[in-house]
Amino acid sequence: MRSKGMATMVCIPLLGKDKVLGILNLARKTKGTYGQPELTFLQQLADQLAVCVENARLYAEVIRGKAELIQSAKLAAIGQMAAGVAHELNSPLTAIMGNAQLLLRKSPPESPEKPLLEDINRCGARCKKIIQNLLTFSRQEQFPLEPLDLNQVVNKVLPLVSFQIDHSNIRMVTKLHPDLPLITGNSQQIEQVLVNFLLNARDALEGKLGKKALKITTGIFPENNSGDSTPDLAPGPGRVYLSVSDNGQGIKESDLPNIFNPFFTTKDVGKGTGLGLSVSLGIAEAHNGTIKVESACGKGSTFTLLLPASTGEDNCVGRGENHDYQCSSINHR
Ligand code: ADP
Repeated sequence: MRSKGMATMVCIPLLGKDKVLGILNLARKTKGTYGQPELTFLQQLADQLAVCVENARLYAEVIRGKAELIQSAKLAAIGQMAAGVAHELNSPLTAIMGNAQLLLRKSPPESPEKPLLEDINRCGARCKKIIQNLLTFSRQEQFPLEPLDLNQVVNKVLPLVSFQIDHSNIRMVTKLHPDLPLITGNSQQIEQVLVNFLLNARDALEGKLGKKALKITTGIFPENNSGDSTPDLAPGPGRVYLSVSDNGQGIKESDLPNIFNPFFTTKDVGKGTGLGLSVSLGIAEAHNGTIKVESACGKGSTFTLLLPASTGEDNCVGRGENHDYQCSSINHR
């Protein structure tokens, strides 16, 4: 202050509702203390400034909230529209695939049309999958709930994807908790989440030089503290998790906030639909659970499905076949 030729200085805090927003520093070249009328004036000035700062912050928050509201309204509208379109496309697609399969059966192996028909069939199957995802994402659908063992879900899904995983030279390990509590859920949907995690992990490992590793873990939270790839999640009562870790390309920090948005994809055109994670999160939330992500660019990612363990109140706590389960159903979205 002296170097600037100032001799007297006063610092006045800018007081917000419940915190100090900043400090107003004033200085002058003449020596001597500030008088009471000056201080009263400066205090009033500081109070006015504090109100301005607080209003500016509130305004920014309102604008942000409005933008979020518009965004979610847009997403809801897109969801409804997508469901309508998907529904309309389902029937003609069934006819296209059915006819292609009929012609395929009739065409001899050496026929030049055979690869073309196979292509029609393959593309049709891909479209069907996209449609199915869209419908799952946006349809009000009843899914029956049952007592589920996440370890069994893993064992059921592995044979379905192991060919694709092995084919990509990925070393897969599973670490399943030996005494995992049941959850109350829909088997098909939880399987779908796991398949999405696994296929994303496979894609993230594509082109990686060096060892490609993928790990599936189940466990109880917060009891499990193995410390390796188990994600660092806030403890909660009676929760179980299913996580998939890979040492692939990881997710850019700028992409992380978007990965659960429908249609967000960083994959090549024709490869990604951007629906896998949004559908998966919808499923997790419909099961009163959530999905957590940990990722480091260039190092890998861990996706964790976290679900509440069954309680006696679910009527779904038994393990044996003789239990008389009486389960409800959930409304997905
Ligand atoms: P899609 O797989 O069709 O792109 P998803 O909703 O499943 O759609 O995933 C959205 C995006 O999230 C992906 O395009 C990718 O950028 C990112 N992502 C998901 N899983 C992983 C992963 N294991 N590693 C790196 N990126 C991932």
